[in-house]
Amino acid sequence: MASIQKNSKNTAPRVTLPGTQFHRVRKTIQYLCVTVFILLPLSDVMRVDLVRQRFYFFGAELWISEFSIIFFTMMFLWILIAAMAMIYGRFYCGYLCPQMIFSEAANAIEKAIARRVDRKLTDLSPRARRLLTLGPLYVILLPASVFFSFVFVSFFIPPVDLIHRLLSFDIRTAGSLFGVSVTLLTFLDFAFLRQRFCTSICPYGYLQNMLADSHTLQVFFQDESGQCIHCDKCVRACPMGIDIRKSSHQLECTHCAECIDACSGVLGRMGRQTLIHYAWGDAGRSQAEERRWYRRIGFRDGKRIAVLVLLSLYATGIAVVINMRQPVLVRIMPNRITLYTRAPDGSIHNTFRLVATNRGKTDARVTLSLAGLRAAQIVGVPGAITLKPGDELQREFDVAAAGSAVDPGVNRLRILVHVDPGQKDQSLDETFIAPMEAASPATPAARPD
Ligand code: SF4
Ligand code: SF4
Repeated sequence: MASIQKNSKNTAPRVTLPGTQFHRVRKTIQYLCVTVFILLPLSDVMRVDLVRQRFYFFGAELWISEFSIIFFTMMFLWILIAAMAMIYGRFYCGYLCPQMIFSEAANAIEKAIARRVDRKLTDLSPRARRLLTLGPLYVILLPASVFFSFVFVSFFIPPVDLIHRLLSFDIRTAGSLFGVSVTLLTFLDFAFLRQRFCTSICPYGYLQNMLADSHTLQVFFQDESGQCIHCDKCVRACPMGIDIRKSSHQLECTHCAECIDACSGVLGRMGRQTLIHYAWGDAGRSQAEERRWYRRIGFRDGKRIAVLVLLSLYATGIAVVINMRQPVLVRIMPNRITLYTRAPDGSIHNTFRLVATNRGKTDARVTLSLAGLRAAQIVGVPGAITLKPGDELQREFDVAAAGSAVDPGVNRLRILVHVDPGQKDQSLDETFIAPMEAASPATPAARPD
């Protein structure tokens, strides 16, 4: 857990991870993130299936017809990201963002190739050596971009479907064009933009800076007694190419802490402490004596506590709603284009429309029965309908009753829906229309104007 130390000269509360270098911690977290990024589309933890129009969230398969749950779930994720930015600043950019991880990997590959070329081909001009660096780099980045895009697009199109499209060289469907476009953009990004993407295109970078306040975690340079030896190692170590000594509030700073490690390394050899450190915003300076654990992990004012409570309530609400949703959705609507028909045997028929959807993961059996209308029966659907996972059935059926058993005009009935395995029985109140002279077998069917 992070701890806060007070330097004898600096008053800002430092946030350090004892016994570790931030670079090592960051790389470990980044490897974990890449693993999660690659594995996530293979699970139903969080992905969208555009082909089948489904949204998967922690094992729940939400249909597009459940838009309200999807909308509130997406809103929850947005509030969570905003809360993270408010409390931990650009922690996401520096430690979790796939764009940053792959950009840093592209930088590392380029540096490694350039080192080899410079060492082995000393006779060539700098321009020729640069070209000999870029050639192999692009050859490596191309398949890497295809792989990155494949994983990214898998969040929207199932991987098996995607492999099938790749193997059949399908470039005409929208999904395939989407994949080709992402591959091209990814390659251009890793080849030419990399971290410039964060400061020129990425809206989240701007959003994070807007959400920061006087308690947000930030990387801080503090040198009140003039100990900086101006070695510029912090500048050379910065993947964004900035000088943190100028300001802690630079748009480019992703709070990656490479400059902290650089300064610790230089001044540490001289027996001094780093001049750059993590700190809880500007207001943190006056709270260096703070010992309460929740303040040390970032919950440093009422606003943050309120956001935490709101997020907890929101998450609980979503979990309850997802758990309460019925996997099998049955809707029944009367077809009032024809109010009623009379069969040759004299019975009166009302037509209904059945829509049954199995949003669960196992087979379901739907059984309809009637109550409240004497001697009425269902005609046109079997006693039990079997729905496989993902099936949607739309069918019309009749409720038939003897003319002598119903009142003229409007009668009340209930259609009972039983779903196996265990789902709460539904009782749907409906009306049954009979001719005003219901007992007369000679009355013709009524038609609307
Ligand atoms: S200034 Fe420091 S924390 Fe900010 S991006 Fe550069 S190295 Fe990372
Ligand atoms: S690494 Fe430390 S000592 Fe060197 S220039 Fe940066 S802040 Fe100063």
